[in-house]
Amino acid sequence: MFQIDFGESSETVVGIDLGTTNSLVAYMDAATPRVIRGEDGDNLVPSIVSLAPNGEIVVGNPARQMLIDRPDRTVYSAKRLMGRGIGDVQDELKLFPFRVAEGSEQVVRIQLGEKQFTPPEIAAFVLRQLKKNAEAALETQVTKAVITVPAYFNDAQRQATKDAGRIAGLEVLRLVNEPTAAALAYGLDKRKKGTVAVYDLGGGTFDISILKLHDGIFEVLATNGDTHLGGDDIDNLLIHIALEDIQSEWGEDLSIHGEAVQTLRRAVIAAKESLSFLPSAQMEFAFHGKTYHREITRELFDRLITGIVDRTLGPCRDCIRDAGVSVEQIDEVVLVGGSTRIPLVRSAVEKLFRAKPHTDLNPDEVVALGAAVQAGILSGTLEDNLLLDVTPLSLGIETMGGVVSKIIHRNSTIPASASESFTTSVDGQRNVLINVVQGERELVKDNRPLARFDLKDIDPLPAGMARIEVRFLIDANGILNVTARDARTGKEQSMDVRPMYGLTDEQVEAMYKASIDNAEADFHARQLAEVRVDADAILAATEKARQSDAYTDLPEEERQAIAKAVNELLLLYHGQDHLQIRSKIEELNAATMTLAENMMNAAVKGALKGTKL
Ligand code: ADP
Ligand code: MG
Repeated sequence: MFQIDFGESSETVVGIDLGTTNSLVAYMDAATPRVIRGEDGDNLVPSIVSLAPNGEIVVGNPARQMLIDRPDRTVYSAKRLMGRGIGDVQDELKLFPFRVAEGSEQVVRIQLGEKQFTPPEIAAFVLRQLKKNAEAALETQVTKAVITVPAYFNDAQRQATKDAGRIAGLEVLRLVNEPTAAALAYGLDKRKKGTVAVYDLGGGTFDISILKLHDGIFEVLATNGDTHLGGDDIDNLLIHIALEDIQSEWGEDLSIHGEAVQTLRRAVIAAKESLSFLPSAQMEFAFHGKTYHREITRELFDRLITGIVDRTLGPCRDCIRDAGVSVEQIDEVVLVGGSTRIPLVRSAVEKLFRAKPHTDLNPDEVVALGAAVQAGILSGTLEDNLLLDVTPLSLGIETMGGVVSKIIHRNSTIPASASESFTTSVDGQRNVLINVVQGERELVKDNRPLARFDLKDIDPLPAGMARIEVRFLIDANGILNVTARDARTGKEQSMDVRPMYGLTDEQVEAMYKASIDNAEADFHARQLAEVRVDADAILAATEKARQSDAYTDLPEEERQAIAKAVNELLLLYHGQDHLQIRSKIEELNAATMTLAENMMNAAVKGALKGTKL
């Protein structure tokens, strides 16, 4: 449904996986997504940023060395701080050596040597490096990108990611959920429909997502995970073992030597990574002339990491439950994240989901590859016009006359938010009913009821004077939060609903089709309902005005004109011609003009203002 017009230019749009541990950039080479290498020949750019003493910014592998040499000027895992305030990140500060600048409040600032940077600025350094790598490889300027974010990222975190792009000189055409990108990389959007589980075990985070696909639309049914679980935990376990060995062999406690621990970390990571392909590996480490050596077999390794792998299973089960599906209903399983190369992880996933997971693509590249596919779609390189992460049906509330006022339209990308102001229909009204419905039809009765609640104790005012703000927010999991607020008193009431719960694809399809089949009749019914609401309002206001002194003071012919207009309106009121009713309303409006002016009656004047609940 969307179409982005790039005019004549066909500039390459790149896809970027901005990861906690590693980041990478990919592009569409004809119809195939490809990862772009850096100057060092590495596809992955470690998400590490360092401020060299000469003021230069160093990113990626060279910065990794700085982690050892100048930890006070180097930062990693900064994605954990994106779009978050100091209150949100206390857990992270306990676990990671972030040096947060003093006075950080709304926005966290990271101290690197003598300078301070916000998380989006740090991320922008990584993005600039990726942009540079892409420009070198493609021999052209790159200014547009699709960037991926975890499915659970909230509005602020997504905004921070967009800001990072802007700071790096990249126009972010789209943020795509990481699991959606992974599914795209495997071309799962080509399926007509299905349920896909995406299991992502990276360096420091574990995410499980269940997506539902219908006609090229991905919907995130549920997400779960553990923001402190990943390959780092395995590294720490191996480091611990090595440190104990060294303690007993050398009689030395190396754990207090930051530099030694970092070097050891590299040694155990190398051993761990080769254990994914070989039956045994060597942990080798030299320090101050002494050497340490130990062989680890796959069997021992598996036993050591069983606890870590098992910690991913609970969130998987919770996610399946929250998605409202059974294991048998999951058609495809996709593995993402470097740590899913570990054979024990693969077999655990296979056992839990009772299906062979997709493993053809490099698990640490699949998100970037999927981002490139999305970039290709947006830039028109790929024909396919598919929609991603959208709400398949409109969401709205009931307004006067049983008419629906749509607040979020179908095919809006999620997360989405929208708000609208409404007013009251009765003088002195104290409660308003918020009736939330889903569907494409014009009248409430033809839509699917989702939820209803009362906003109570609003300020009693003449009809049309109150301002009730209704805000809809669908998060990345597709959960809809509806909030109604009396603008005068600030009183509010809210409710969460899961709009797609229990709806089959066939039902969604049928609802959409019904709206097309009934479009003309619905349009007419809506016009009629709306015009009658307006008629009710002016009739009630006129009736009230006729009790007043101002009315008695009117010249006889004006009173007769009002009575005539009222009668004519009443005669046509139940007819089917909305235009006729509208013209009678206008006549009555004209006939009561002087009266209204004389009375300065807010009810008459205000009666036609705003959509009434
Ligand atoms: P993130 O999404 O968190 O940025 P990645 O998906 O790049 O991270 O995963 C990084 C993790 O994957 C690191 O802990 C790394 O050691 C691990 N990893 C990479 N290759 C292998 C391998 N062959 N075997 C086991 N773990 C691996
Ligand atoms: Mg990742």
